[in-house]
Amino acid sequence: MALSLIPYGVTVWTKEAARRIVRDCKAEGHPVDHVWGYSSSPRSDHRNHRCVDFMITSKEDGDWIRDYLTRHYIELQIRYIIWWGHQWRDYWHSGVPWHAWMRYYGTNQHHDHLHVEFDR
Ligand SMILES: [Zn+2]
Repeated sequence: MALSLIPYGVTVWTKEAARRIVRDCKAEGHPVDHVWGYSSSPRSDHRNHRCVDFMITSKEDGDWIRDYLTRHYIELQIRYIIWWGHQWRDYWHSGVPWHAWMRYYGTNQHHDHLHVEFDR
């Protein structure tokens, strides 16, 4: 599959939210390089059709996009983000402060992309 800025196989809202994110981050000088949408892998969160990986080429761009996402999480209907060894939730998770950046212990530390899950 060719590298794309439009996520494949995701919900209508997830595709629209991804379009806005790609547009706004490019306009602000922190472009997304390409995106990944649906995956059928049995171990992937992307099976739910509501996750997008925003691939970037520098930590500076990723940090800027992280801040953009948490500024706009309500209108973008974001529920979960992973970036640079940390995770952020817009829902209750046992023992985890709401909207805090917590350590992420997955094997993939997400240094080349932001994983974003949307509400619908
Ligand atoms: Zn992902």
